Amino acid sequence: AQHFLARSQARPDLGAYLSIDEAATLAQAKLADERRANGQATPLTGVPIAHKDIFVTREWPTTAGSKMLENYRSPFDATVVARMGFGNRDQGGQDDGAGMVTLGKLNCDEFAMGSGNENSAYAKAHNPWDVSRVPGGSSGGSSAAIAARLAPAATGTDTGGSIRQPAAFCGVTGIKPTYGRASRYGMVAYASSLDQAGPMAQTAEDCALLLSAMCGVDADRDSTSLDVPKEDFSLKLNESIEGLRIGVPKEFFGEGLDDDVRVAIEAALKQYEQLGAKLCEISLPTAPVSIPVYYIIAPAEASSNLSRFDGVKFGHRARDFTDLASMYENTREEGFGDEVKRRILTGTYVLSHGYYDAYYLKAQQIRRLIANEFQQAFQNCDLIAGPAAPSVAWKIGADKDPLDDYLADIFTLPASLAGLPGMSHPVGFGNGGMPVGLQLIGNYLQESSLLNAAHRFQ
Ligand code: GLN
Repeated sequence: AQHFLARSQARPDLGAYLSIDEAATLAQAKLADERRANGQATPLTGVPIAHKDIFVTREWPTTAGSKMLENYRSPFDATVVARMGFGNRDQGGQDDGAGMVTLGKLNCDEFAMGSGNENSAYAKAHNPWDVSRVPGGSSGGSSAAIAARLAPAATGTDTGGSIRQPAAFCGVTGIKPTYGRASRYGMVAYASSLDQAGPMAQTAEDCALLLSAMCGVDADRDSTSLDVPKEDFSLKLNESIEGLRIGVPKEFFGEGLDDDVRVAIEAALKQYEQLGAKLCEISLPTAPVSIPVYYIIAPAEASSNLSRFDGVKFGHRARDFTDLASMYENTREEGFGDEVKRRILTGTYVLSHGYYDAYYLKAQQIRRLIANEFQQAFQNCDLIAGPAAPSVAWKIGADKDPLDDYLADIFTLPASLAGLPGMSHPVGFGNGGMPVGLQLIGNYLQESSLLNAAHRFQ
């Protein structure tokens, strides 16, 4: 923990962390030592981890990258944080976590809305491979911290690609499990029907260990958490992938995919063939409309979730107001950044009377079609592979239209809308010597096949 704290403190220029509290970290390290001495250690006990600042923590502030939550302290730990750390011992619960030591909280786009960490209200995060470029987003602090060895493990969240795309941009490994695998309790909500937690680390093997600690039903606190038996995702890591059928969707290789990324992805697919996998072309005809579908559903849910930030119960409250309505207005005007406001406006519009059927309902229907197409595809293949993003990491501040960022989500959104597990692992380099990530998508609850394939590749 001391080693990684020192490295993290030496690189404020990367903007990876939003908060570090050395004393709090060392206190947890002591607890881990005690457990080890008592013979109660798990394989992860004492291993440092940093959490995306979307997970609430009692011992570190939680901002979700927003001014709205500046200096906010949660009275409880997110379930994922408790499970990876020391349980909820101080809240009357058990000391039943994996015993990992928290290094601090990681930068992210405000309320996880973004693809380059440029929407953080605090600092831009930088890509350690080329600091003039973005680390991806919204879990950009997580990918930057792993790539620069500021932490051996990190959590991320993925609503539409926010684990897979930053993992790809920074040459690290990350997995978003099946929707419902990990508890959303204590994850600041963006779009609840899509939000999932997942680990980011150097390798698939590390991700398997982390995911095993992270997942599990949370019946009392997240009604969408899946009641499936706890799994050790590392058991299948070393199995042969001889005969594994990998489906390659033709829609993932059309217009918009940069040539340098295409070359790296095709080489990776060849390497999978050499490992014994069989490639077959598949089609996901509705996947290309994932962008409009996601950018209706996610803002709709966000507009509802973010209504809680009204200056009354917690978070920022405007100083100047004359009545209740102006208190709400000024608070939200000051507390939210441009992208968040854009999405709240879009979300309230598509949910409003008269437009609901045309936009929100239609988007939900297409979402179902996309999920069905995946099920059809999985009749002919075990996994689906393609690029995680259409380009390598772009330059910070490349004066872009917000729409450009939305369009770059094209390859990660389909699996999100279907609730399927997806991961990205590094496969090579593209323009500017920047890393390229291969995305693997599995059927529901098939995380261990994804991790097995990636581990054999690595
Ligand atoms: N880039 C997408 C967005 O801005 C995905 C974000 C996420 O997965 N949290 O909504």
